[in-house]
Amino acid sequence: MAPTHVLRCCQRTLAWIPVIFIAAVVCWSYYAYVVELCLYTIISIGEKIVYMIFFHLFFIMFVWSYWKTIYIQPANPSKEFCLPKVEKERYEKEERPENQQEILWRAATSLPLYTRTGAGGVSIRYCDRCQVIKPDRCHHCSACDMCVLKMDHHCPWVNNCVGFSNYKFFILFLAYSLLYCLFIAATVLQYFIKFWTNELKDTHAKFHVLFLFFVAAMFCISILSLFSYHLWLVGKNRSTIEAFRAPVFRAGSDKNGFSLGFRKNIAQVFGDQKKFWLLPVCTSQGDGLTFPTRLVSADVEQQATVTLQQEPSKSAAEVPESPVSESQNRLLSSEQNANNVAEHQETNTPAESETITISIESES
Ligand SMILES: [Zn+2]
Ligand SMILES: [Zn+2]
Repeated sequence: MAPTHVLRCCQRTLAWIPVIFIAAVVCWSYYAYVVELCLYTIISIGEKIVYMIFFHLFFIMFVWSYWKTIYIQPANPSKEFCLPKVEKERYEKEERPENQQEILWRAATSLPLYTRTGAGGVSIRYCDRCQVIKPDRCHHCSACDMCVLKMDHHCPWVNNCVGFSNYKFFILFLAYSLLYCLFIAATVLQYFIKFWTNELKDTHAKFHVLFLFFVAAMFCISILSLFSYHLWLVGKNRSTIEAFRAPVFRAGSDKNGFSLGFRKNIAQVFGDQKKFWLLPVCTSQGDGLTFPTRLVSADVEQQATVTLQQEPSKSAAEVPESPVSESQNRLLSSEQNANNVAEHQETNTPAESETITISIESES
């Protein structure tokens, strides 16, 4: 086995450590709550039953949503976003960025792309690593080594990319883990005080009950901040990446470019039917490749421009100037070459090319 392959295998194995840690804490919390608190410490039968019912309700929903967030693979761009073989070969042979962009523009004529890269939004977003034209809101994840649709961030606590395919599950995972911790902290508090003040005599349950309260309270605080932030993002229809760097449209960058209003933004992630909102089942709207934007009228014009470029008898440089095709023509003009080179370099530089790994440290 090549050393790089061994290294990659080691990295993949080590990446599971945070998930194993969370699973171990959850298993211990189950034992501590059910056995040490409910069975050994609580005397009232009624209290035991009520606590056990609600505990198991939160536990099942939490584990279910956590499992779905881990298990659901990130969605990737479909085949239409790959360059045709001939074009790909031409692209690889081509050394000049402006000519490479010309190839990309031609390949992208039939694709519903509204976002661009670079100043002025003149360059098609392309992933050299996956050799694919990036759909809107798609980004390359260096940890997963793939382009992920509507990528939000790479989460080490689920060892998975959070994106279009599992964003709803991730939000529910945060919600149910918060409820799980809140419920534990609230119900354990009185026994925590009794053990702390020695009202209850020292038993083996004391350590578990004291520790259970500390751990639940600590997780509550960290999850609450992350959950609040993601609820705000859902309300704005913005991904974590877009919150840090606004998407660039033809008209320029617009952090609210995908915002359709609060209700529609919620429906984008959770779907139309409220009865499914709280269940970790897939109800997100769309296919992850295209997203409605606030700039629909501008996009129609953009489509018209793109059609002009499709005409085989005309080279891209011969496309007549019109207000709506300005960006494409500027792209091919020599005046813009220097700009394009810079933008293209930006596209290809790993640090800047939307190859993004965001580790949320505050999750635990
Ligand atoms: Zn990629
Ligand atoms: Zn990832």
